[in-house]
Order: sequence, then structure tokens, then C-alpha cells
Amino acid sequence: MSLEEGNTPLIKTSTFGGNFLAKFEGANPTGSFKDRGMSVAVSNASNLGYRAVMAASTGNTAASAAAYAARAGMRSFIILPKGKIALGKLAQSVLYGAEVIEVEGNFDEGLEAVLNVHKTNGTVYPLNSFNPWRLEGQKTLAFEVVESVGVPDTVVVPVGNAGNIYAIWKGFVELTQVGLTERVPRMIGVQAEGASPIARAVLEGREIPEFTESPETIASAIRIGKPVNWPRAMRAIRESNGTAVVVTDEEILLAQTEMARREGLGVEPASAATLAGYVKLLKLGVVSKEELVVGVFTGHSLKDPDSMMRAGTRRFLVPPSEVLKLVEGELRVGR
Ligand SMILES: *Cc1c(COP(=O)(O)O)cnc(C)c1O
Repeated sequence: MSLEEGNTPLIKTSTFGGNFLAKFEGANPTGSFKDRGMSVAVSNASNLGYRAVMAASTGNTAASAAAYAARAGMRSFIILPKGKIALGKLAQSVLYGAEVIEVEGNFDEGLEAVLNVHKTNGTVYPLNSFNPWRLEGQKTLAFEVVESVGVPDTVVVPVGNAGNIYAIWKGFVELTQVGLTERVPRMIGVQAEGASPIARAVLEGREIPEFTESPETIASAIRIGKPVNWPRAMRAIRESNGTAVVVTDEEILLAQTEMARREGLGVEPASAATLAGYVKLLKLGVVSKEELVVGVFTGHSLKDPDSMMRAGTRRFLVPPSEVLKLVEGELRVGR
């Protein structure tokens, strides 16, 4: 089951003061990296004879599951935390014809509901990131990076449920195992201040994260208090000599506008966390200007129109006859 996901652009940036490449996952068919894993997982569900799939989601898993289920001719049940989903993502689930079940609760509670259905009713295939097939699909990002630029020094990934950072690391590790490469990049995870159990555990040198009951951040795709894949993510970070970094919502929103206005690349807030993290890591000296860093920009800006509007810009309302005067006036005062 494929929509020709993957093979996303690896774009050189020039304005952040380092050797920084952006892997633009927003170019996937539904606008996020989730498509890489969904292709494999829905193919597996189809091979096993399932007629319905299910996923709890902060939005992108839902959009992707709904699209691939549609392609496979299956029904999809999507569990969303009510009122906490970016508009573009919700609209995608509607368009692809998913059955949208909103719950009064957060993502973590939605996930428990999926596990409950999975345990008691075996006819609905669960597509959350504990599903190993999704991680197998997501690891292909590492293969593409190596094909384009070889093994980078460092890879920066935003961390929510923590499957992706592990999957990408696994991809790099497997390339060494088959003898195609000789080393694995440092994996650095970025989390938002209000949802940072893994990053804080890494930075404080603890083995086990302290979970957050009510995670809060503008970056809804990484607004997760109890990441299911935390042991795998911590392993990827530890074994690659990586680390983690925590960014604030202000830093995320600033990074989102800077990415758009300096590099022309529109990314959603969870992805902007990658740039915010990179800028902070440069400042702290954790990464150097010379080292080759790949930032994973997990989702497209169109996913979240509200966050784009928050960027703000100069807007005018004038009669058509006044436009010339206005433009000339603006050109005189400069930006
Ligand atoms: C799902 C998602 C993440 C987080 O990925 P995990 O595998 O849950 O850590 C980050 N950014 C975007 C845009 C996502 O959709």
C-alpha cells in the first residue's frame, strides 16, 4: 500500500550559522513523516486480512492512517483529544472519510482507549507507534540521508511519542550492520518545555523519565506526557552518544517564522522545535558550526493554519485605487 511516500528533499540552509540540512518531511503525501510508517503498517493489516484500522492521534497519525486506509479500502477509526487538534490535520481525517471519535481527554488517554479496543476486540488493527511496522517504515529516512550526503555527524529530531528518533537511529545502525557505512550519527532529541519527560531524564542523567499528566505546548504533535517508546528513544540517544534539548513555545514560534522567512520553508510547530533546538545547541556549544547536522522537519506548515497566522505580518485594507500609493509608501519606509 503506497502513495509514493519518502524520498523527501534534503535542503541546504544558509542563514543559521552552521552546516545545517533540513530533511523536509512535509513533502510526504499527507504532509508528515507518518506516511513512511503507515505505508508499511497498513500493508501489513491488509495482508493479515483486517477490514478496519484504529489510531489515537495528535493529528498527523490520524491523517496518514485515514489516507492509507482509504487506499486499502478499509475503514478507519480515529481517536482525537477534543479541541486539541490543529485544523489542517482534523480536516484531512474528515476528507479521507475516517470515523472521527473525539474524546474528552488528552492523547495519552486516547491511546489507552485504543489499547483497550485492541485487547478486547481483535478485529480492528491498531496503528499507534507501538506498532513495530511503522518504525520499520520510518527508518528509511536514514537510508535517504546516507544516499544524499553520507553519514552526517548529528541528527536532530523532535520527540513526542519517541518512535521516530528510535526508528531513524535503527536505520543508521542497520546500514553499519550490513557494511554500507562505518558509523552512526549522534541522535539529539528535542522536546517542548511543557512536554519534556525524555529530554529532562537525559539532561538530568536519570534512567527513567518522570511523566507529565497534562502536557502543554503549542507544538501539538509533540504534546505527549507519557511517550510509549521512551525506552527505545533513550537507548538511541545513549548508544549514539547523543543528547537532548528542551525548547520553549516562544523559541518554537520564533523558529517557525525564521524558517519560513529566511529559508522559505513552511513547517508546523513540532518541526520548528528542531530548528529551535539546533539554534540552542549551537549556542551551548553542544554542536559546532562545522559539523554536518541534519534536522528532521517532520510536518508541513499547512497542517496548522492557526500557528501560521500567529506569525503576523503587515496587512492592509484599501480600495484598489489606493494600492499604488500604499506600495510606494511602503517601499520608501523599507521593511
Ligand atoms: C508524530 C510527530 C512528531 C513526533 O514523533 P514521535 O515519533 O511521536 O516522537 C513530531 N512532529 C510531527 C509533525 C509529528 O507528526
